[in-house]
Amino acid sequence: MTRTVPFLARMQDDERAAWMEALPAALAAAGLADVAVHPLDRLDTDARQAARVAIVANPEPADLLELPNLVWVQSLWAGVERLLSELPPSALQIVRMTDPQMAETMAEAVLAWTLYLHRDMPRYRAQQRARVWHELPLRLPSQRRIGLLGLGTLGRAAARRLIANGFAVAGWSRTPADVAGVDCHHGPSGLVAVLERADIAVALLPLTAETRGLLDKTRMALLPRGAAVINFARGPILDTDALRDLLDSGHLSHAVLDVFEHEPLPADDPLWAHPQITVLPHISAPTTPQTAAKIAADNLAAFFATGAIPQAVDRARGY
Ligand code: NDP
Repeated sequence: MTRTVPFLARMQDDERAAWMEALPAALAAAGLADVAVHPLDRLDTDARQAARVAIVANPEPADLLELPNLVWVQSLWAGVERLLSELPPSALQIVRMTDPQMAETMAEAVLAWTLYLHRDMPRYRAQQRARVWHELPLRLPSQRRIGLLGLGTLGRAAARRLIANGFAVAGWSRTPADVAGVDCHHGPSGLVAVLERADIAVALLPLTAETRGLLDKTRMALLPRGAAVINFARGPILDTDALRDLLDSGHLSHAVLDVFEHEPLPADDPLWAHPQITVLPHISAPTTPQTAAKIAADNLAAFFATGAIPQAVDRARGY
């Protein structure tokens, strides 16, 4: 008999097609050739009642309430903040995607945009537009201090790449961390220490009640004059009005934003046209279907074989 796993995803059609190819192949490879993945609207009442696990990608949280016997969900995305904040309290376990490939993709993005800022590309681009031939002073990577906000799976992978490229890296986490080559800080006073010494601050934090609005005007003003900001985490972590004020006043030099309060970023949003802001369409670390589908399928196979649920996020902590 075919077993059905609901698939609740809000994604582009081409992305959906890639997953619909990768997931069945990975399930078959994991010994689950009898498991079919179907969108919620294709499931009848019996299938909805029978579902104990679902695969999700940025779903409407309320849709999960259509599956009353769900025990856990496997998210294909690493960020699950909407599920955590909008689902009513219950025993439902939320497992986010932790894929070593995603960490490497994020580390590559952090390195790429750090190099963009480090080698003054925004200013050379502006100089070209104004036909200005002017050599800016060269700084070595060892003279460029990077402050990583978040030392989890992604932050640690980013730290490795930055250190390998010679940058001076400090990091901040909620609890004490020990990461080779990183000047580690934690807690409120640790944030001040990291920001005060960061030429480039990189946000790699989950969005939680504690991190929402974390990078406000006061905290971003702690960055040294001329510093830059990269937000690859979640939009609401950073106050974009405060950011624009600090860029316009000359305190900050540039910002690279991959994530926004409202995505897609509305066409009339002033961030699009700001000369010192680089807008990216949430692309710093997309999930790779080939590797992530295998992780999801292996997790499902373990659950069907033994009832084991992979490590879930801590709903009270928010990540
Ligand atoms: P992890 O859970 O592995 O790490 C989170 C880190 O943030 C930990 O170091 C944690 O501290 C720290 N942290 C959490 N809350 C606080 C706080 N209040 N104060 C200080 N530090 C805090 O997450 P990942 O590294 O896997 O991912 C981070 C986020 O990146 C995801 O939640 C997601 O939102 C975003 N993301 C963005 C993508 C994109 O394409 N733009 C792609 C993938 C993810 P501690 O170590 O003490 O627990």
